[in-house]
Amino acid sequence: MKNLLLLATISFLMLSCKKMAEPETKVEVQQSVPYSIVIHGGAGSIIKENMTPEKEKAYQQKLEEAIKVGYAILKKGGTSLDAVQKTINILEDSPLFNAGKGAVLTYEGINEHDASIMDGKTLKAGASTGTKTVKNPINLARAIMDTSPHVMLSGSGAELFAKEQGMELVDPSYFVTESKIDALNKVKASKANKTASLYDADIKDSKFGTVGCVALDKNGNLAAGTSTGGMTNKRWGRIGDSPIIGAGTYANNNTCAVSCTGWGEFFIRSVVAHDISALMDYKGLPLKEAAQDVVQNKIPKLGGDGGIIAIDKYGNIVMEFNTPGMFRASIDHEGELYIGMYKD
Ligand code: ASP
Repeated sequence: MKNLLLLATISFLMLSCKKMAEPETKVEVQQSVPYSIVIHGGAGSIIKENMTPEKEKAYQQKLEEAIKVGYAILKKGGTSLDAVQKTINILEDSPLFNAGKGAVLTYEGINEHDASIMDGKTLKAGASTGTKTVKNPINLARAIMDTSPHVMLSGSGAELFAKEQGMELVDPSYFVTESKIDALNKVKASKANKTASLYDADIKDSKFGTVGCVALDKNGNLAAGTSTGGMTNKRWGRIGDSPIIGAGTYANNNTCAVSCTGWGEFFIRSVVAHDISALMDYKGLPLKEAAQDVVQNKIPKLGGDGGIIAIDKYGNIVMEFNTPGMFRASIDHEGELYIGMYKD
């Protein structure tokens, strides 16, 4: 009996010690959470022969500046949504890309902007189309997601909403640049314009420069965003894939976050961003395989071209394109920066 009592006391003391030690053990085994970010600045005929060293440097610097803004937000523990939005703002404010300032011109010689953003945690999304005075269309998409009961607002209604939200509005002339006037004139003078064929190289190559960003934050939340002026010489209120959730932009914490760039009509018909997520979800494919199937197989089979950037829930990064080049940059979960333009 005495022995039994002694054994019970020893067991109790051992258990109590283990309990007291537990919190410390937990802290020791805690893993560092991966976070990463990827951006694109459009896919198309981006080849070294068409670049000057100055132009190359300007693109490199802007891509690096933009991605570092988003990465700093993630590093400090900020949300992937904030990282995506603030990174895209830098690209929208740069005349180098087809978004915000420097967006391509419509047939009428004005700018009509499309943008969208999606939260992988809640599957909430916001999108705006055809706006002419909102300085940063991605901010409008975010406000639609955060403060309206809707997902997508268009044209003058979207602009009224932006005004009511106190967003920065600018005169339409703010967006217009010389190089995009030249691009419009070139397309209008081309044979393709007269035959209204989208297949002509002049038209195909006049649209690249759309911007997008996807990110995974320290809380394991994914987000994606895309902003564009669409296609040079577009008319009749043409809308591409960029503001369409599932086509140009998609994020889901269970799978991945995707932002697309390329020939929008084909990206809409292939529901590209959601298809990549669905291949992971339903078929169990890894991100790289899912992205390759859609970008290298399904889109070209229809006759389209372009590229995507994506991150999965583990922080794996994919930048897949079937065009000669795609402006892109990433910072992976080890903090390594990569910048690319051409096919490596
Ligand atoms: N996808 C965009 C659109 O069709 C253009 C692009 O990404 O280059 O509007």
